[in-house]
Amino acid sequence: MPPFEEYIETIKPLWESARVTNCGAIHEELERLAARYLKVGGLSLFANGHLALSAAISTLGLTGEVITTPFTFASTTHAIVENGLEPVFCDINPDDCTMDASKIETLITDKTSAILPVHVYGNACDTDEIERIAKKHQLKVIYDAAHAFGVELNGRGIGSYGDAAMFSFHATKVFHSVEGGAVASSETELKKCLESKRNFGLTSPDNVETIGFNAKMSEFHAAMGLVNLRHLDEQILLRKKICERYAERLTKIPGIKLPKTRQGVKRNYAYFPIVINEKEYGFDRDTVLETLASHGIFARKYFYPLTSDFSCYNKRFDSSLTPVARYISGRVLTLPLYGNLDIETVDEICRLIESR
Ligand SMILES: *Cc1c(COP(=O)(O)O)cnc(C)c1O
Repeated sequence: MPPFEEYIETIKPLWESARVTNCGAIHEELERLAARYLKVGGLSLFANGHLALSAAISTLGLTGEVITTPFTFASTTHAIVENGLEPVFCDINPDDCTMDASKIETLITDKTSAILPVHVYGNACDTDEIERIAKKHQLKVIYDAAHAFGVELNGRGIGSYGDAAMFSFHATKVFHSVEGGAVASSETELKKCLESKRNFGLTSPDNVETIGFNAKMSEFHAAMGLVNLRHLDEQILLRKKICERYAERLTKIPGIKLPKTRQGVKRNYAYFPIVINEKEYGFDRDTVLETLASHGIFARKYFYPLTSDFSCYNKRFDSSLTPVARYISGRVLTLPLYGNLDIETVDEICRLIESR
């Protein structure tokens, strides 16, 4: 939570203007400052990340099949399916859990219209290779950058890659507006369409050109975002210290693997995942989860299950076709991570993992 007084000061003017939603002054300011922070050309705010992603998919006019990853949150796969498209699951890299770009081309058919990779945990995808393939086959690229607010790759904002990139501002993410999200778009025309989409398809008060929905961010949410944005760099720095401590203590343990960061990436330290190999470590992931829980420490199986194994999808898809994703999903654990997590607690968590 940001400082209470600062939030109250920010929302005070709303009692005079009474303009509490429909893209008011605070919304406009957050959109401008977040675009600057993210180093992207055009940014459109949304009520949440999921609707932002769905709007991007729908606005880019995709058809047929979309190559994506099953190692993600429910939102990514649902957004494809709810737009009447067929997800085609590509396996992931064992090192950083992002889409394995070397497997994309074998999945392309004459129905493929796009690639939708995820910058998992804030790890940047192999954007060069993904975009080379997309260009060669004339495919759109939409990144799910829900985890990657503030991440940069080779000095460029991560949201400036691809045709569009979605960010989530959910309360559990590294930067938040309680609920919220955004799409960074590569073209002004796309930005215009996205903004019409989020407001029922209106293009002017008298004209509705497309079928839209309501996905506008309120002024109260935008205010939370605005205040949090001012404190984001401090928060990321605190998280960095915690991640460094975790890494220092956990890398030495046999059977515990930490995902790698691609070269040229400026990280946001959104998550701290570990992959536990039960043969080398001696216990499996679920046992570690339970041991930690018995000491009041709540880690998460993030992501488990794979989206292709959800009961709403498992009759349509076969997760044995993405063996690396299946392996990681069965062994990954994300450890507690937030700015004011004290080092003593981090040490206690590491001690529990070290001592089995
Ligand atoms: C959080 C998340 C979303 C959805 O964002 P919301 O703001 O919660 O709607 C989508 N994809 C991934 C990978 C996420 O982690």
